[in-house]
Amino acid sequence: MKIYTSKAHECHNPPFEIFTSQEHVAYDEAPRRVESILAALGKTGWAEISEPRDFGLEPILAVHSAAHLNYLRTAYEDWRSVSPVEGMAFIPYKHSVDRETALKGDITEPDGFFMTDMTVPIAPGTFTAACASAQVALSAAQAIQNGEPSVYALCRPPGHHAGREVCGGYCFLNNAAIAAQWLSQYGKIAILDIDYHAGNGTQAIFYERADVYVTSLHADPARKYPRFAGYAHETGAGPGAGYHKNYPLPAGMDDAAYLCILEEALDLVAKYDPAYLVVSTGMDIYAGDPLGDFAITRQGIHRIGQAIARLRLPTMLIQEGGYQVDELGNNVVALLSGCLGN
Ligand SMILES: [Zn+2]
Repeated sequence: MKIYTSKAHECHNPPFEIFTSQEHVAYDEAPRRVESILAALGKTGWAEISEPRDFGLEPILAVHSAAHLNYLRTAYEDWRSVSPVEGMAFIPYKHSVDRETALKGDITEPDGFFMTDMTVPIAPGTFTAACASAQVALSAAQAIQNGEPSVYALCRPPGHHAGREVCGGYCFLNNAAIAAQWLSQYGKIAILDIDYHAGNGTQAIFYERADVYVTSLHADPARKYPRFAGYAHETGAGPGAGYHKNYPLPAGMDDAAYLCILEEALDLVAKYDPAYLVVSTGMDIYAGDPLGDFAITRQGIHRIGQAIARLRLPTMLIQEGGYQVDELGNNVVALLSGCLGN
């Protein structure tokens, strides 16, 4: 299986995050996540790992606003120009409420405008890493467009919580949306999001589109992040009405219960008849993940891969979350080997 990844992810390494308390805690979305995955892939014998191609900024700007990209590019230096603390990640605590009026006003502190929460600290190399992560996704998209049956994009930072001009939930640029947007010039696209958390960014980006069908299995947002999207009644709007399908799930989902719902989601994908499938792959569904509360086993993850493969669609799998780092690599291998029919 072709696999794309970039060492540039290491440039994004915030020293801490601020979680529910005001204490600084270790940043969960850390470079060691990629190290775990690469170590496990290295033992498989079927992983062909490559550097991404550079597609430039144009395909990123097809999804994100120029203002958003410019903010990411300049935020750290702007903050450093007024802060004496070097190397520390930047975490704004004021967030915009009314985006329309905020845009018209004079934004003297833009940071909260471009962030939905405090999990997206901007370190010196964040822009570099986020752009490289998008190039990894685009390279995988091009590979399936060129005829590869299934390709894995080892993206970091992840992307599915990033909206058109907001970062959030460890995500700065929406890699899955950028890949899907690029692929959409060649046919209809389905996005299946199996991360534990609802992909609120992906949902918002394609909510009014009929040419990109989005379906997602995730923890019920009534009880878990991202709270403000991912509900069952959200089914698309305008031309996209009926082209979005959420499956909010309770705590403790086990393999059998999860796979039953996944089969229903995959049946609807098959009915939509897309040219390409993009899978937002979050391994925080795994039992024991520090950010999750499902009970999915490694065997279950393998069966998820097998179920996806049964669609027989050109498929790219994009890494999103997964924070049980010691198990992360083996879980990714379980999923991908399921996709390969191993
Ligand atoms: Zn997640």
